[in-house]
Amino acid sequence: MKTLHKPVPPGGTIGIIGGGQLGRMLALAAARLGLKTYIYNDAPDAPAFQVTGQSIAAPYDDLEKLAAFADACDAVTFEFENLPAHAIAHLAEHVPVRPGAQALAITQDRLSEKTFVEKLGLKTAPFFDVTSAGQACEAFGKLGGRGILKTRRFGYDGKGQAKVSSADEAAKAFESFKGAPAILEGFVDFAYEASVVAARGADGGFAAYDPPENDHENHILRRSTVPSRLSAPQVEEAKMIARQIGDALDYVGVFAVELFVAADGALLVNEIAPRVHNTGHWTIEACACSQFEQHIRAVAGWPLGDPVRHADAVMENIIGAEVEAWQSLARTGALHLYGKAESRLGRKMGHITRLKPLTKP
Ligand code: AMP
Repeated sequence: MKTLHKPVPPGGTIGIIGGGQLGRMLALAAARLGLKTYIYNDAPDAPAFQVTGQSIAAPYDDLEKLAAFADACDAVTFEFENLPAHAIAHLAEHVPVRPGAQALAITQDRLSEKTFVEKLGLKTAPFFDVTSAGQACEAFGKLGGRGILKTRRFGYDGKGQAKVSSADEAAKAFESFKGAPAILEGFVDFAYEASVVAARGADGGFAAYDPPENDHENHILRRSTVPSRLSAPQVEEAKMIARQIGDALDYVGVFAVELFVAADGALLVNEIAPRVHNTGHWTIEACACSQFEQHIRAVAGWPLGDPVRHADAVMENIIGAEVEAWQSLARTGALHLYGKAESRLGRKMGHITRLKPLTKP
């Protein structure tokens, strides 16, 4: 097994598991730093394959292929969090894996994630473990109001979630998940949503970006705006929440903490994403060092970059057929297209970031 006591030097190779738009933007940032990337994806037509020197299409549980991939890399990271735990452990026998298996195991599962957050003394929505329809009814009774039933694993963009307003609905929703373990969360009547994207270096160094305010449509991120409506003390609190989480996970790399901002100003942790995050895309144009460069720096054991923001920014996702307007979009901001051949309903095809002069330093 290779250990990583020294930084990966320019010319070294960073392995990236997952070849979507996040892997693509990571590879582009690595190239700027003189690092090579090797991308592993389970299908051949991956957006990130277009921008990397080395790639392989193979299943995520093919241990032989994963081992050969790991042996060709100096460090390995991920663009998504759902790699099977045994595959991560296997990779880690061959190469330093950042973030590590423990951080991924905790954040892959909503129950372990929320329990971890609660133990740190941070606020979350009330939540209950649900493994049967009977337990779903019981949990709804304890909630004393509306809730959201969520599968513990593999949920994204609202998939594996159901709003419930009675014990009967909670039981039916559980049955529709076909036995998948779930949690029932109390419905939070938040004023708005925000997130903090932060990085922790291999040496324990920490850097956080200004938290954007995030708007969703049909469970998909529509827009991230910085500065947000958060006050200066709330911004500091959000960054401290991220620091506490990063330290407790002994995390290396970029991660995001999604927050609900309550009407009374309280910040509740909704979710931790152990990777670069859609609500941090604006950092490419608006910050000295983007979230993608920051992640590559951390994974390679380099010093973290400066997260300072030099402009106000609004990032909007380009979803499905919206991409057909690429010519007019290209006139209005910094356009990023992900190189996806087909625009399906709800599919993220690109994003656009529009900058304005800095209003809040
Ligand atoms: P998640 O997959 O947990 O990030 O949830 C996706 C979106 O559903 C969030 O960004 C919120 O808009 C909404 N949501 C999730 N959990 C809750 C909750 N407990 N109360 C209110 N809205 C929620």
